Amino acid sequence: MKRFLQLLCGLACASYALAAVPPAHKPKPNVLLITIDTVRADHLGCYGGVNIETPTLDALAHDGIVFERAISQVPLTWPSHAVILTGTYPFQNGVQDFTGQPLAPQFRSVAQAFKLHGYATGAVISAFVLDRSWGLARGFDFYDDAFSAQAFQQKDIGLVDRKAGESVTHALNWLNQEGLHKTPRRPFFFWLHLYDPHSPYDPPEPYRTQYSSHLSDGEIAYADHELGRLITWLKRNQLYDHTLIVFLSDHGESLGDHGEKEHGFFVYNSTVHVPLIVKPPAGSGFRPVRVPRPVETVAVAPTLLHSVGIKDGIEKQFQSHGLFGPATENEDTAYSETFYPFSSFGWSPLHALESSRYHYIEAPQPELYDVVADPQEKNNLASQQTATVAVLKDKLQALLRQNPFTSSEGGNSGLSPDALEKLRALGYVAYRSPVSPAALAAGLPDPKDKVGEFNSILAAADAFHAGDFQSGRELLAKVRESDPQMYIVPFMLGEAAQRQQNWGDAAGEFQKSLELNPNFDQAMLGLARALVKLDRPDEAKQWLERALKFNPQNYRAWHELGSIESKADKKSTIADYEKAISIQSNFAPLHRDLGMLQFQEQNYAEAAKHLATSAELGLNDAPLYNFLGISYSRTNRLQKAVETYKQALALDPNLAEAHLNLGYAYQRLNQPKAAQAEYETACRLEEKFCSLRPGSRQ
Ligand SMILES: [Zn+2]
Repeated sequence: MKRFLQLLCGLACASYALAAVPPAHKPKPNVLLITIDTVRADHLGCYGGVNIETPTLDALAHDGIVFERAISQVPLTWPSHAVILTGTYPFQNGVQDFTGQPLAPQFRSVAQAFKLHGYATGAVISAFVLDRSWGLARGFDFYDDAFSAQAFQQKDIGLVDRKAGESVTHALNWLNQEGLHKTPRRPFFFWLHLYDPHSPYDPPEPYRTQYSSHLSDGEIAYADHELGRLITWLKRNQLYDHTLIVFLSDHGESLGDHGEKEHGFFVYNSTVHVPLIVKPPAGSGFRPVRVPRPVETVAVAPTLLHSVGIKDGIEKQFQSHGLFGPATENEDTAYSETFYPFSSFGWSPLHALESSRYHYIEAPQPELYDVVADPQEKNNLASQQTATVAVLKDKLQALLRQNPFTSSEGGNSGLSPDALEKLRALGYVAYRSPVSPAALAAGLPDPKDKVGEFNSILAAADAFHAGDFQSGRELLAKVRESDPQMYIVPFMLGEAAQRQQNWGDAAGEFQKSLELNPNFDQAMLGLARALVKLDRPDEAKQWLERALKFNPQNYRAWHELGSIESKADKKSTIADYEKAISIQSNFAPLHRDLGMLQFQEQNYAEAAKHLATSAELGLNDAPLYNFLGISYSRTNRLQKAVETYKQALALDPNLAEAHLNLGYAYQRLNQPKAAQAEYETACRLEEKFCSLRPGSRQ
């Protein structure tokens, strides 16, 4: 990093900010916001990274302003992006981790301001953690978060995120389709989010081979390469010069620093120091410069608007004057926090403030690092430099008092089971820990002292996922020994027993977890499933009703409750299933079960609707198509019935019922020859159908 000529921003930035406002008669510049997930600043060529090639971003840095000390306000994907797009701190917008509610409606996104000022607005995002359910789609005409519908069926990691190649192609499709490169030009605001450098590190070739000893860099190099296609498109269409491009990462990656493998648990510079490059539009009068002072990612939103001359009421919401605005008292330091240790595990949250010289971390045992002399933050000076600690602590406390978010929500996580599973597939534990008043009074544990326990829990989850139950149990046994109150341990053991169909053990572990965390709806759901298997449906029903009291969004609990009730009360079951579908309309097994129930009740129009949806959502099974065909036939949609029986037969040519039903449909359509052929096939496959003659049944 030192090899670069470090120019102070000062006058250069001020003149850029003034000159950047374009004259009123010209179309406003385009705005391209690029976030690449999980990129440590020191892992890019233009930030002094070695053994990695990032030519696209290096070229952007060459043309732009490079912020050498950009600090992310929170090292977690969703909260960090909420900061970037709203210009508010996490403790103000309430998005402090992923166990809470979506972004509250009173917070606006810069996309809304761009849209209001005539911009076409589009976004392509690459991971479930930013899908529209979290609330960041507001203001975008186009928000591409369509992950495969089969994600609801298969727990494959590939279905909760997607590769840069696919995302960049989607971005180019939108830009081309909207004709945004043609004159008369309508300006666009486009946000591209790439997720590749996030774990697991799985770059495609040739990056896999080239970076075999440091695969996470291979992911960065791959994302950089794909991003190059978008930059080339801009240049080819003579748009590059007219476009403000802002690139940053949402957080870094510890890669083992301080005992943390990935990110989110601590707030050291390994995870909060991110790359940030601003390439202004032509005519802004700026010259490329490197800015060494600390800046915050909360400054990105105001920078996007100011740099293209947009004035909008959203400014009242902003907590920063932007990267080029007059620095406020707070803007010579950079804030960060994490609530991940607190929310999921009941350990202390962390807050930090970084000045040009020091990094102060507020924790049960406070930390202070001289980031100039000790950039790796190994030597804690807190006990020696008490005056510096006091100054930074005061400043931090004053910042935290500014417009803190007040939530009306309390208690347990309202996340749906689907969201929890997807977060888990991405490597996060997203359950909500109970923190008792007694624990709070006694002081919460310091995450520094708990990182071993945290790593064991993650390693156990990986072991269970890989089917290595013994290793998983051994890891959790150690955690239980050191922390008998940790509710996640019996919960994970319960899930492991459930996977091994050891229902008695599963029920016992889920019960233990509920003793430690009595509001934990996921443990109630697990317990109910085990009790059903143990033939104790009445108790199961009580636990499901309890789970739904704590989390009415738990659609799997509605589904399970409906299944139990289906034996005695079909009307209640239909109501439960419909409730579940109103929460999660993309869950294929629910549509299948509701469709079959309506079929049994002879409500064929409803049956057809739900069976068709389950097929569209990826349930490809021949009997399902057969029942769907009958439903069409009984509602006089014969042509559709014929097509559907053919789909059943494409999946299973030996399904005799489908041949028979196809024969009936042909007969009703006055195609006796075709009907006869199907009857003969049905008879050949199953003798019992031979006695059925044309016309003997509908
Ligand atoms: Zn991220």
